[in-house]
Amino acid sequence: MPPPSRTTARAEIVVDVAAIRHNVRTLREHVGPGVAMMVVVKADGYGHGMAEAARAARAAEAEWLGVATVDEALALRAAGDTGRVLCWLTVPGDDYRAAVEQDVDVTVYSEAELAEVVAATDRTARVQLKVDTGLSRGGASPDEWAALCAAAAGLERDGRISVTGVWSHLSSSDEPEDPANAAQEALFDEALAEAERAGLRPEVRHLANSAAAILRPSARRDLVRVGIAAYGLDPAPGHTPDLGLVPAMTARASLAMVKRVDAGAAVSYGRTWTAERATTLGLVPVGYADGVPRVAGNRAEVWVAGSRRPVRGRVCMDQLVVDLDDAGATAGDDAVLFGPGVHGEPTAQDWAEACGTISYEIVTRIGGRMTRRHTDSATETAEGTDR
Ligand SMILES: *Cc1c(COP(=O)(O)O)cnc(C)c1O
Repeated sequence: MPPPSRTTARAEIVVDVAAIRHNVRTLREHVGPGVAMMVVVKADGYGHGMAEAARAARAAEAEWLGVATVDEALALRAAGDTGRVLCWLTVPGDDYRAAVEQDVDVTVYSEAELAEVVAATDRTARVQLKVDTGLSRGGASPDEWAALCAAAAGLERDGRISVTGVWSHLSSSDEPEDPANAAQEALFDEALAEAERAGLRPEVRHLANSAAAILRPSARRDLVRVGIAAYGLDPAPGHTPDLGLVPAMTARASLAMVKRVDAGAAVSYGRTWTAERATTLGLVPVGYADGVPRVAGNRAEVWVAGSRRPVRGRVCMDQLVVDLDDAGATAGDDAVLFGPGVHGEPTAQDWAEACGTISYEIVTRIGGRMTRRHTDSATETAEGTDR
């Protein structure tokens, strides 16, 4: 239990579930009618909390949830979700029996995997087939595809499985001009034709992640699988039109200490930054063990007392230092690493650019000892948390 006097956590992730609902509705409007919405909640809802993200997605009428692993799918069931759920990254020995018996749609990449699903239970398994159209990651290679479709069609005729979907994944949807997108779509169309020749009539055919859902109408097909955009982050910086998506996550801490230092003071391990003149430093009690990238040292900014303050010196395991200059902050003040950006605070995208990575990595890795709290800005009263 925290001391009763403390009203805000020392370091926390605050997730506004209203932002997730808003984003899902906005994306649905953008992709238009006749396209089902799958909200991807793998990796603990991209760090936002899987169960809460799932509930927000369902409240915004997402027909499907997508996850990587069987365990994630079963966790959704344990959290009370009863809707359609697709998982797509299994290994031999995974609990297909539990997945099938709990009505999870399982993605199959190969005939061996198909055999394992069928052997796991007598129940008719809902199976989706994935074809590799050029990412060279999961999925059947084009030269294995016809045989996989034929095997699946045979099992479907025997009542052992129901093939509910055929899908693939794009390598370069965040670079809409890349010819790889059209090439993959063409291969996908060939794969769909092959599935049809085998006698398969899948309920959903899908190809698009967030970037393709937003930027590539031809890739939307029956369903889009949106992850990052549902959390309000830009899947294709520099290409995405402003849809009014709202980042749902804020990462904040309370300043542990504020101190004056003289000109010449060197900050943090290795003395990689030295004060040119006397200044005020703020100690932020989060570090790389909490998922703050170590590479953010001397690069990223943190919002303190109404302005963005630069991180000075190296990020340590548990803490980092910001230059407050004359910002007038005191210990206990809010230090916002990133948030929706509406007050001027950095966004996860700003942190990604400062760290040479993508916003996906920023939000999925932040955590460690930070606590996580969910708010709902759409239902809050005047006493509620200010967003
Ligand atoms: C993670 C994932 C997505 C979601 O991608 P975003 O870029 O976050 O929208 C979609 N499909 C598959 C197969 C994934 O693994």
